[in-house]
Amino acid sequence: MSISRFNAVEKASNRKAIEVVTPKEKVSEYFASNVFNRKAMQKYLSKGIFQQLTNAIDNGALIDGHIANHVASGMRMWALEKGVTHYTHWFHPLTDGTAEKHDAFVEHDGQGGMIEEFSGKLLVQQEPDASSFPNGGLRNTFEARGYSAWDPSSPAFVVDDTLCIPTVFISYTGEALDYKTPLIRSVEALNEYAAKVCNYFYADVKKITTFLGWEQEYFLVDIELYAARPDLSLTERTLMGHESAKNQQLDDHYFGSIPPRVQEFMKELEIESYKLGIPVKTRHNEAAPSQFELAPIYEECNLANDHNLLIMAVMKRVARKHNFRVLLHEKPFQGINGSGKHNNWSMGTDTGVQLFSPGKDQTANLSFITFVVNALMAVYKNNALLKASIASAGNEYRLGGYEAPPVILSSFLGTQISDILDKFENSDIDDAIQMDDKKGIKLGVGQIPELLLDNTDRNRTSSFAFTGNRFEFRAVGSSANCASSMLVLNAAMAHQLKQFYNEVEGLRKAGQTKKEAIFHVLKKCIKESKPVRFDGNGYSNEWRVEAKRRGLDCETSIPLQYDAYTTPETIAMFKDVNVLSEIELQARNEVKWEIYTKKVQIEARVLGDLSLNHIIPVVIRYQTILLENVARIQQIYGEDFRAMAAEPMRLIEKISGHINAVNSGVFDMVEARKKANRIEEAREKAIAYHDTVLPFLGEIRSHIDELELMVDNQMWPLPKYRELLFIR
Ligand code: ADP
Ligand code: MG
Repeated sequence: MSISRFNAVEKASNRKAIEVVTPKEKVSEYFASNVFNRKAMQKYLSKGIFQQLTNAIDNGALIDGHIANHVASGMRMWALEKGVTHYTHWFHPLTDGTAEKHDAFVEHDGQGGMIEEFSGKLLVQQEPDASSFPNGGLRNTFEARGYSAWDPSSPAFVVDDTLCIPTVFISYTGEALDYKTPLIRSVEALNEYAAKVCNYFYADVKKITTFLGWEQEYFLVDIELYAARPDLSLTERTLMGHESAKNQQLDDHYFGSIPPRVQEFMKELEIESYKLGIPVKTRHNEAAPSQFELAPIYEECNLANDHNLLIMAVMKRVARKHNFRVLLHEKPFQGINGSGKHNNWSMGTDTGVQLFSPGKDQTANLSFITFVVNALMAVYKNNALLKASIASAGNEYRLGGYEAPPVILSSFLGTQISDILDKFENSDIDDAIQMDDKKGIKLGVGQIPELLLDNTDRNRTSSFAFTGNRFEFRAVGSSANCASSMLVLNAAMAHQLKQFYNEVEGLRKAGQTKKEAIFHVLKKCIKESKPVRFDGNGYSNEWRVEAKRRGLDCETSIPLQYDAYTTPETIAMFKDVNVLSEIELQARNEVKWEIYTKKVQIEARVLGDLSLNHIIPVVIRYQTILLENVARIQQIYGEDFRAMAAEPMRLIEKISGHINAVNSGVFDMVEARKKANRIEEAREKAIAYHDTVLPFLGEIRSHIDELELMVDNQMWPLPKYRELLFIR
């Protein structure tokens, strides 16, 4: 039995903030205290082992059994001192979120007792039951088990009594069953090809690091109100609910002060994040009521992604302590902003150069232009694929709305960079050659002074915007694993840089100088990638028409968007940079279609139940009251009753219309589901769910939302938007 609306509302509005005790130490003193980072390693490992391990982390050197054993024993010692009793391999299956299987540190001591044990073997490898995780048929194909394997590049950490070891999750034959494996492969590919191109400008660069700085948006709802909304509890989304008279029209939430209850939640979340080594930095209100954002200082991509996944789990835990539930869903409420995750993406060299930052001299600026243009090319050539990488049942409700990035991928550069590229495109080779010396800077490329780039020139409607020293991929969904989009972006960029390099080398072999060759290839790329550049209003209808004309992908159906993963071009691209094989791509799409189907299926079921068991009975009760009212009027006033009972009679009719529409909508939706369920093939089934089941969700809800405005407020069973959305 769910909690009654009025009980919940009363409890929620009387709730006081739970004060958090701030640690006495400075953040710098307890930062990463629950992380087996280099500082801890140095303390718990011998000098030799420490050096070999850091060499493996920094340079990819192999870790043998001997090293693993020593690391495991050091890690165990460190963890035991923190009162840890269990360990787990922590991995990212193809569902969003993380998975873990906890094992105790204890082993038989051979004499009937137990000892604390944790060997290198247990650190390096585990065999969770792969069949319980989506694998897109990979496991069956290979009749192999899946195993998780230690990722030393991301440090182990402690949560409560458990040591968590970041791992990849792969099948016995090496196919990735997770997000981390291809993310790591993509970072390595990008390192390889970006370094090659980078060496044209900086000969001493040996390593390129990819950075990710995510911004996480979320909603908070009081725990009691959440419990009183079965749709929220089961789908993280309100499947019904009329817009509140006041929502975000006044834009007062964005600039408003943070409510004390939320402030305390954020404080504790920050403390917990710091202990886990997550460098959170900004927190603020977002546009919608009860919507907030959190962002850390950017980090290396794989680590940043681990931290994002970890923080999503921490948020859920801390929220409950403060009597909230955190909603990471992309569109928990209709009619107000949804939540995204902005993925700020950049690359840097081991010599300290940020590749998307304009530099001080011509070489630096040519390098800058080269990387920006290659990024544009990668986005242009893979715009359908990048869209597929952020496509999910949840994000489907968010994108394309007036307040969110559209379902078309384009890149905003700002007027300065656009002008520079236009100049570049229209200049001739003499200009290029002059770029070599200090005097002739005809292109203007060398003229971008340090920090001149105006990053206030923001375009909030662009899905992939250049923001001064990085690109910001804004279409990512708030509940997504960032790796899904980052691995595509990294792989596409690596592939593009490889191609760029080969083309430049081709021209050099044909007799051109390095600068000439670079100039020619860049010019060609600037021309070719032009269709993906768009600085106008990405939410406008004109843009939809224009984008289609430019040949950008405009597909709106999520199941069909996934097809971009298995086109011959995509398969060749991923293969070329060794990030995902064709078999892996096929298998992962199976999983994506299955998840899509299940999400819509669950929502359809929940909506059906709520309609028939929560809403309609209450509406009928209210209608009966109206009918009794009409009958009484007739009793008392006789023949004249029609004029007197006009209003209740009008309401009765309207209500009947909506009741019938809801009932027949639910009936038809069930039929559509039955039909879709008979389809075997995952893709076809997802398409059927999208085309024939999904439309009923909006249709049915529109009638219920109308009813919400007619039925006596005292009788309405579910907390209304105005009650859910404003935290006192
Ligand atoms: P805004 O909301 O205006 O985009 P924020 O300060 O909230 O700005 O977030 C900016 C995000 O971008 C932070 O996560 C920050 O760490 C990240 N970031 C800043 N510079 C870089 C960079 N060079 N590479 C990757 N991420 C970056
Ligand atoms: Mg941002």
